[in-house]
Amino acid sequence: MSQRVSNFSAGPATLPYDVLTKTAEDIVNFKESGIGLMEISHRSSEFQGVIDEAERLLRELMGIPENYKVLFLQGGASSQFFMIPMNMLSGGKKATYLNTGTWAKKAIAEARLFGDIEVPYSSEKENYNRVPDQHEYTIADDSEYLYLVSNNTIFGTQFQQFPDTGKMLISDMSSDILSRPVDVSRFGLIFAGAQKNLGPAGVTVVIVREDLLSRCPDTTPTMLKYRTHADKGSMFNTPPCLAIYVVYRVLQWLNGLGGVEAIQKINRQKAATLYEIMDSGDYYRGHADPQSRSQMNVAFNLPTPELEAKFIADAAAQGFKGLKGHRSIGGCRASIYNAFSLEGVTELAAFMERFANENPA
Ligand SMILES: *Cc1c(COP(=O)(O)O)cnc(C)c1O
Repeated sequence: MSQRVSNFSAGPATLPYDVLTKTAEDIVNFKESGIGLMEISHRSSEFQGVIDEAERLLRELMGIPENYKVLFLQGGASSQFFMIPMNMLSGGKKATYLNTGTWAKKAIAEARLFGDIEVPYSSEKENYNRVPDQHEYTIADDSEYLYLVSNNTIFGTQFQQFPDTGKMLISDMSSDILSRPVDVSRFGLIFAGAQKNLGPAGVTVVIVREDLLSRCPDTTPTMLKYRTHADKGSMFNTPPCLAIYVVYRVLQWLNGLGGVEAIQKINRQKAATLYEIMDSGDYYRGHADPQSRSQMNVAFNLPTPELEAKFIADAAAQGFKGLKGHRSIGGCRASIYNAFSLEGVTELAAFMERFANENPA
């Protein structure tokens, strides 16, 4: 434990220590079966117990209604960019996308391979420093769904509430799933790559309303149909067992903390600690418009690129790692997902105050 640093990486990201130690034990000898977690059959009752419990916990923590399926898929969040339109827009149907960052833009490009995609809002010109209010765009009546990225990992913006337009929502929640309560019934589909807020890379969670499973054309390859995986409980082929197991442990951990409402309180405190520094002076400048601020990724700049480089180096030397901003925006970014402690954020805040005093602009 003592060798571990404060890891602000955007993803893969820090995991609860307790999850890591339990996983380490089970990798060698899974549930006292005498077989390691990576060596045991996915058809064994031991592994079936893990995937069932992961689904049960996720349903309970998110309040997922009965008429939704929970899938554990491979291919990363990025594969959902094409699976969604492939399964839902056959025959060139229309859908509406909000362009609020790199991950939205990539999803738009993939969706255009399958459907008629409208993009009535983009913050690209302002370097994605905000997300829209719903009066800033309109949605065509014949649009199948409204797609949005709930939290823009790279730019540090987040929808504070979801648009209430009557249109079915589809959302990429890769970087904020389970960080706050969400009314799942307003969504046709929610997905999240696990490696930010749920576990390790290698599994993507998809929550999809059952009636949407039949929209997919027969010509779709078997592995790319949601229905295939829904019908087989994510066991049509070998699932990413190790990644699913870690998700199960993370869900247990979150449940033990008191669930989504409890973690939301802590997340609010963590984010407020860092944004307060930005609001109290002009040394640290937040990238996001205050109304669009993310509770998960705090992107900021210092007065000069030289000071930013020194800040990142000095921070790393003191055990604050992973603070370099994404290459498309530069500057600094502190990713403070569920598993990142309030204590770690408080320590970073103290370091930021010290650094500003010792390195005037
Ligand atoms: C990281 C990220 C992705 C990409 O995830 P992969 O699993 O690497 O494909 C997509 N969307 C968002 C919001 C992300 O943060």
